[in-house]
Parts: sequence; structure tokens; C-alpha cells
Amino acid sequence: MVQLGLAIRGTRRTALVLYGLLLVLPTFVLGGLHWRQLVLDHQALVDAVPNDVADAARRLEDALARRVRELLDREDTRPFWHYRHASFEPGTIGTEIALVPTPLERGPAPASVVAWFAYERGEAARRPPDVFLGGRTTLPESERRGDDLGAAARGVMDRDLRESFFVRIFRPRRFRTEEIALPVAAINLSREENIECLQDEIQSLRAMENERVSVDMTDFRLRFHREADGTPRVIAVRTVYLPPSEALTTLPQCFEALGRDVVLRQGFFIDPVWLFEDLPRVLAAQVLLPTQELILPGAGAHTPPPGSEVSTIRPLKALSIEAPTREDESFATLAVVTSTLDLERRFQSQMARFFGVAAMLVISLATGMWLLLRSVNRDLEAARRTENFVAAVTHELRTPLAAIKLYGEMLEAGWADDPQKRAEYYRRIVRETGRLETLVERVLEKSQLARRDVKPEPGDLNDAVDAIVQSVAPLAPEGVVDLEVAFADDLPLVMLVPEGLRSIVTNLVENARKYAPVAAGGEPIVVATEPCARGAALEVRDRGPGIPARERERIFEAFYRIGDERTRQSRGTGLGLHLVALQANAMGATVEVRERTGGGTVFRVEFTRAAEPS
Ligand code: ADP
Repeated sequence: MVQLGLAIRGTRRTALVLYGLLLVLPTFVLGGLHWRQLVLDHQALVDAVPNDVADAARRLEDALARRVRELLDREDTRPFWHYRHASFEPGTIGTEIALVPTPLERGPAPASVVAWFAYERGEAARRPPDVFLGGRTTLPESERRGDDLGAAARGVMDRDLRESFFVRIFRPRRFRTEEIALPVAAINLSREENIECLQDEIQSLRAMENERVSVDMTDFRLRFHREADGTPRVIAVRTVYLPPSEALTTLPQCFEALGRDVVLRQGFFIDPVWLFEDLPRVLAAQVLLPTQELILPGAGAHTPPPGSEVSTIRPLKALSIEAPTREDESFATLAVVTSTLDLERRFQSQMARFFGVAAMLVISLATGMWLLLRSVNRDLEAARRTENFVAAVTHELRTPLAAIKLYGEMLEAGWADDPQKRAEYYRRIVRETGRLETLVERVLEKSQLARRDVKPEPGDLNDAVDAIVQSVAPLAPEGVVDLEVAFADDLPLVMLVPEGLRSIVTNLVENARKYAPVAAGGEPIVVATEPCARGAALEVRDRGPGIPARERERIFEAFYRIGDERTRQSRGTGLGLHLVALQANAMGATVEVRERTGGGTVFRVEFTRAAEPS
């Protein structure tokens, strides 16, 4: 028994250790590693935010510069004669001079350019700059009327003229030089209103068709300033130089310009809304990460939301646009912002998911462990019961056998001369043999019940029970009347198996006698019948110690005995009540055990009413 107890504890421990090693430990280790990885990844993301933002701002700056460069490169390829209303394209001069309108006027103008302008430096005092709207009838909303652009172009010119000589001289310049046919230069530099004069000189021009002049052109330079009313202007300007041509000085007045140095200023106004808002917005969608956001000028670029990392871009600086004051250099500052709040939120939702999964795993592991323990406990309990049974049966066999042997030997040795004593010994031998027989019968009964198919028949419960009680009543201890019947009248016929009922009554009465023995003059055990909803009920009531509530289900299991075989006083195998339950079940009856009012136990068997004969 002690060994069994140790084995039970050992088996349980082994099962738990295996479960822990194979399932719980790997789950917790993997879960822990995953959690750590989540935390580290999050930290790495948070740490990388400032660098990421700076990188993003740089990418955006580069993209902006590239797009503006593309615009300037495109405009650089434009020949200088496009900056007049009608121009003469390089080619042969026919019988008359064919002028074509400039694309700057025809359009279409790109969204980036509001208008083009041109003026001649020497002519400035006399003539206002030409302004071309690129085919637009209405200007972008950011600009006002064409008149204003005229005024703006005039402003550019005035500023240019006011610029000191030294500033002009020392400004770094890159020239491109092109050779063009002299008549092309001559026609395109002549006054547009002098077209008739040109027609008259067509012969001389044709004669000069093979002569070439060189044209020097600077790249476009970007400048920024604000008008008096605050309107921002982004201007691209280039200078075109044509050296004086000897040949042309001989031509009439309509070519007068060519006889001297010609300095043309040509340029265009870049739409500030395109440059500082539309373009950054489009580029931001391409170069920023989903967690980064572009804040446009005026939308709080200087006051980023709390919990965010910011990197600012000053477009004027990034695009090398000259600005008159330091303050202007910060015009239209953009900001790239990454909110760490977003990262935190993402981390929290990842954590919530992780803990959700972890909770589910813990629940499954706990359920698994509970099921495992239950199954192990059941198996161990079954083993314990079998062990108990073997011990009990051995004991139950050995005790009567020893007694029979003892009395038999005494009789054989002739120790009992007294006939009364002899009779007593014989009686004891018979009683012990009966006990052995009962034990064997019970074991047989259990195995037979499992196999045999019994057929209950309608019968009268009172009659059947009375016959059995009559047969067990004499087995009471000497001088004690320990059984009493209380039968109800008018019981319906119920479905019965006579041997089954005998087994039920004798087992219940025997148990009552064993566990609630009646002393002389004490309250007897009651065998009662009564009608019930199911049909009729049989009750065996005693005044014994009662059965604890938690044991009431289990006492009907095979070989189950309350307490421990080592400490138990009473004899038994744990089969009696199991047989009661099996027999009752075989005839469609139910068994239950209750506490008796005033102390003791009530076993109640309810039999099914027999069908009325039709
Ligand atoms: P056994 O009597 O051989 O131990 P049973 O199956 O007849 O086995 O009974 C199972 C257990 O129920 C007994 O060990 C006993 O502890 C308890 N028991 C049965 N009848 C009574 C009763 N009338 N009063 C108290 N305990 C009882």
C-alpha cells in the first residue's frame, strides 16, 4: 500500500515533468523570445526615427532639386528668339520673311511656369519688358492679372538695373556659346514693329546667309523676392550676349540693335504654389515612408505635434535660390514629421495581440494539464481500487478459511467434548463457509451481470420485498430485532427481476447492519416502500454515521470503499453497492443515497411502473 502511494505520486510527478518539459517550457521560452524580439524591434524603430526623418527630408530635398533642375534644363534649351512675339526660325530666307508666333505665347505653359518675360538691358529705360502668358487666358489663382505680372517683370528689370556694377561683375557665370546664321540673329533682334523694313532688306540678308555670329548664354539663375504687398516671386533669369557685328552696322535702321553690344535678359516666374506646395506634396507621396508626413508651409511646420520627430527643409536653400534677406531664406519652410505616437500605438496593438495569443496558449496548456492530471488520476484511482480489492478479497478469503481450519482442527483433535461446544463449532464453520460463498457469489454476480441479458417482469414490490426481508431478518445478532418494514398500500405494479431485487435488498440490509449496527433496544433499520412519480420506491433507512456528500456518487463504483484499506475496521470488498447499482440499472430502476433526517443514511431505489395491460 505504501508502495502504491509512492508509485501514484511518482507517476503523477513524471507526467507533470514530461508535460512541463515537452509543452510548457518550449511554449514559454518561445513566447518569451518572441516578446523580447517585439520589444527590441520597437526600440530599434523608435531609435531610428530621428535618422529616418533626416534621411526622408534629404530625399525630399534631392527630389525637389531634381525636378527644378529638370525645369531649368528644359528652359535652357529654349532659343533666345522664343522670347519675342514673332520670330524667325533658322532656315533659308525665301522671297519674304516668314515669322512664326512664339510658343511662349501659344502655350501650353507647364503648371510650374506662371509667365515668361524678356527685356533688353540697354533698352530698359525706353521699353517695358515683354510678358508671355503661355496661352493662358486666366492665370493660376495664386497670381493676379497679367498687368501685375507686367509690373512684376518691370520690378525685376528695375532691380537688375539698380544692381551695382561689382555685384554683376563678380557673380559667377557659366556661358554657353552658340553659332547662328547672321540673318537669324539679325531678324530676331530687330524691332518687331520694323517688319516692313526687314522685308525691304531681304536681299542684303540673303547675301549674308553664310555669315555666322556667336551667341553667349548663361544658365538660368533662381532668385526670390517678395513684392511690397508680400506676394512671393520665384524668378529664373538668364542673360544672352550678342557681340556687335561689323556687317550689320551698314544695314538700315531696323537692324540698328546689332551694331552694338546686345544684352538680353530672359526669364520666367515659377508658380510659388507649385514650387512650395504642389510639388513637395507629390514628391512626398513618392519618397516618404508611410509613417512620415509632410507638413506644408503655413500648416504648422514650425510647431510639430507633440511626440513627433521633425526635420525641416528650407526650399530656398535647398534649391540655391538667391534671397535678398536672411529672413527670406526661411520662406516656405517645410517639415517632415514622424509621429512616435503612431509607433507606440502600433507597438501597443502588437503587444495586445501577443498577450491575447499568450493567454489562449496558457488556457490551452492549463486545460491540457488538467485533462492529463484527470486522466492520470483516474488511471491511478483504478489501480488503487484494484489493489484495494485484491487486498480485501485476500483478507476476506483468509479470515473465514483460517476460522474454518481452526474449528475443524479442534473438532478433529477432539478438544470439544461438550456437545454444546461442538454444535457451536459446527455453527461457526457453517457461518464462515456462508461468508466465503457470499464473497464468491458476489464476484461471480458482477461478471455475470456484465454479460447476461435480464428481462424485468411486472411484479408487486411489497410482496417481493417482504419475502426477502423474511429471509434476512433471522440473520440479526442474537437477541436483537434490527429490521422493521413499512409498506405503503396500493403500489402500482413495477418492472422487477426477482434475483436482482434480492441482491439489492440483501446488500442494502447487510451494509446497514455492517455500518449502522442496531444495539439491543435501539431503533431498527427500516425497509419501506412508497409510491413515487416513476412507479414505486424502496428505501432502506438506518441510523448510522451517514455518508459524506462528496462520496455519495462514488460508493456505487466497483471496488470503491470509503477510507483507506490500511485503517478501515469493517470488512468488505467494495462490490455490494456496485452490484446494487448494476442490478437496479438492469431492471430500469434508479438508486440514490440521501442523508436521513435526524442522522443516518437512506438508500432509495425507484422502480419503473409496469405498462397497463391493454
Ligand atoms: P463494502 O461494504 O464491501 O465496503 P459497498 O459497495 O457495499 O462495499 O459499500 C461501499 C462503501 O459505502 C462502504 O465501504 C461504506 O464505507 C459505505 N457504506 C455503504 N453502506 C453504508 C451505510 N449504510 N452507512 C454508511 N456507510 C455505508
